[in-house]
Amino acid sequence: MTARRRNCDVLIVGGGPVGSLLACLLARGGLDVVLVDRAERRKSAARSRDTRGYALAAGTVRLLDDVGYWDPLAAHAEAIREIHVSRESGFGSVVMDAANHGLPALGQVVPAVQIDAMLARALPESGVEWLSGTTLETLEAAGAERREVVVASPDGRHRFAARLVVAADGTGSATRVAAGIEVRRHRYMADALVFDVRSTRPHQGRAFERFTPEGPLALLPQPGGLLNVVWVAPPEVCDDRLLMTESERMAELQKRFGWRLGRLRAAGPVARFPLELVRARRLHEQRLVLAGNAAHGVHPVAGQGLNLALRDVAALAGQLLSAADPGAPEVLEAYAQVRRGDIDRVAAVTDFLARGLLATQELAPQLLGSGMLLLDRIDPLRRFWAEQAMGLQPLPRRTLRSLPRARAEVRGAGGPVPDGRREDRG
Ligand SMILES: Cc1cc2nc3c(=O)[nH]c(=O)nc-3n(C[C@H](O)[C@H](O)[C@H](O)COP(=O)(O)OP(=O)(O)OC[C@H]3O[C@@H](n4cnc5c(N)ncnc54)[C@H](O)[C@@H]3O)c2cc1C
Repeated sequence: MTARRRNCDVLIVGGGPVGSLLACLLARGGLDVVLVDRAERRKSAARSRDTRGYALAAGTVRLLDDVGYWDPLAAHAEAIREIHVSRESGFGSVVMDAANHGLPALGQVVPAVQIDAMLARALPESGVEWLSGTTLETLEAAGAERREVVVASPDGRHRFAARLVVAADGTGSATRVAAGIEVRRHRYMADALVFDVRSTRPHQGRAFERFTPEGPLALLPQPGGLLNVVWVAPPEVCDDRLLMTESERMAELQKRFGWRLGRLRAAGPVARFPLELVRARRLHEQRLVLAGNAAHGVHPVAGQGLNLALRDVAALAGQLLSAADPGAPEVLEAYAQVRRGDIDRVAAVTDFLARGLLATQELAPQLLGSGMLLLDRIDPLRRFWAEQAMGLQPLPRRTLRSLPRARAEVRGAGGPVPDGRREDRG
């Protein structure tokens, strides 16, 4: 049975980092926001199985700090002071040093589970209505002022009429599919195994990106002497590695990475991620907009995906909070225009790094070597790496910095007048 229709300003499908952060910012700005996510609400970080450590660029940290969400993460973060890019059994090695850029750090590494936990606390605090264990069932055609959506939750179906629907449900976005927005997709013949290790020599804030014949291998520094390993290889190689004992797997890792950090020991479970490049052909249609991985999924080489996605959040929140109607076509087009160049650039460069430096079968060794030299010598590419690491991108800070913190403040803040007040609820 479907409950009566409830009006809201923004309905977000997908409560990953993108959907959750966007929901918090919009609700704090005074909009009536509903967030639905198919996953069950996690009570603690310890119960999550996401083993990733996110490399956050300095620009991303600044954004989180501007909106008051960096402080709770800082205790779980490790600063990246140097990035070492190298190639297994080959010449060419590049070191990017924060000090050379006049900065204390090139970025910060934060475990994904800590970001999830922080946002899980922030959502109710901001006044977001959060439905977990809930999926999109029907996306209706857009009306003049609203778009209706039916979602299925454990306690039945709910119908919402939103002025804007946001698809933030990841690379496989069911919302994007329901809206008929096509994607360009390239499945890299590679998966990533992700897990924590401990090293006998301290990492001292060094991050390592090592190009091996089978794919890039990254070790990211984490607090407590841990490093997060992102180990990319063809799917059949990942199959074999998952069948190995832990000590066999660590011996193989040590062989690939070398001994710069001394002996590496496993320090947690292994998770596997299939890798693909996904680009939506457009970022919006009538009263619907895409953000984060629903709009673009990129290869994890150089740790760009979430940084790129959070720049979507900043731009979209900036547009929506200064608009009279958050679903108006000109508002959504302004967001798309602001984001296109950044998305194109990050997708192109990560794709080049993933295909060019990863696929040795298709590349002569000397070309692979010159790939490294490219990084070392060709200034724009080198600058790209350092700038992306630091997130040197303009962010719409004006609106975001002045957001009230919690629901009680939101009510007294006189922000945009929400249209679908809770009294409308069916
Ligand atoms: C191995 C690996 C390492 C990475 N490392 C980095 C890094 O160091 N730095 C970095 O910047 N980026 C990194 N990334 C990229 C980063 O993970 C993504 O950019 C980020 O997860 C995007 O967030 P999102 O919220 O858009 O999507 P997701 O995290 O995929 O979240 C989507 C959400 O939607 C929900 N959902 C899905 N379908 C439905 C549905 N039908 N109905 C309701 N809810 C639904 C899911 O439950 C989930 O909560 C890495 C990626 C990989 C694979």
